[in-house]
Amino acid sequence: MSTPLTPRDIQRWYPSRWDQIAGNSAMIATCWDMLQNGPCNTLFTGPHRTGKTRTISLAVESLLCPNRTTTLDPCGVCASCRAVKEARKAHTGLYSVMTESGYSFVPIDCQTVTVEDLREVLRNADLENLRTVIYLDEVAALGRRGIETSLLKPIDESPCIWIASAITVNKPIKRGQAARVDGLSTQMQARFAVKVGTALPTIRELTQWVKDRCKEWEISIEQPELVLPALVKGSGHRVGYVVLALADAAARGRRLTPDQISRFNFGSPD
Ligand SMILES: [Zn+2]
Repeated sequence: MSTPLTPRDIQRWYPSRWDQIAGNSAMIATCWDMLQNGPCNTLFTGPHRTGKTRTISLAVESLLCPNRTTTLDPCGVCASCRAVKEARKAHTGLYSVMTESGYSFVPIDCQTVTVEDLREVLRNADLENLRTVIYLDEVAALGRRGIETSLLKPIDESPCIWIASAITVNKPIKRGQAARVDGLSTQMQARFAVKVGTALPTIRELTQWVKDRCKEWEISIEQPELVLPALVKGSGHRVGYVVLALADAAARGRRLTPDQISRFNFGSPD
């Protein structure tokens, strides 16, 4: 690698290969099934920063890539792969691209999409096509915002593929007991044949992952016997928080030190 990623690049990093994902074995298995057998409506659930969006994004990039490798990784350089990368950066909420693989990809940010936007998607996206992939990021937000009704019928009846993610949060169910809930209506839940949750990496998996990324991103680890366990514990094993801590380390002289980790604010796990 010529120039190392900037702290900002690290913050917005997405995996380009399956071996760059820590934990999440069930999600990866679901994605590989999708790539080998064809996709169907799939819902990915899990807490904040546990790798939903990054894993789904790699799956979509690989699905659309006509030059996928034998290990199911996207080639990373073809027009489709570049288009998916652009769609990630665009953050416009709506983006449609017809790629050389014949797929069209329509990511929708359900937290910001408007009713008019949704109408436009229903009008313009080729819902009859098995190679149209519509991705609903944080799908529960549609219900919270009272605008999910217009999509229930199309998701149920159209031949195109709907992929969605939902954040789960702890909710008290009775005294002293809590359950993780995804906030979806039962109608929306019923629209997805396959449902799969995130799984946190083990201490060993995450430690190795941190070492690999630090090598790749040219971040030196000082006193690894102290720093690595502190980082794994502080992050609550959530890769999304680890990535932020590594972006912070990169911004502070590209050094991961006990001091930097003890000062880093991991936020409060929900
Ligand atoms: Zn490609």
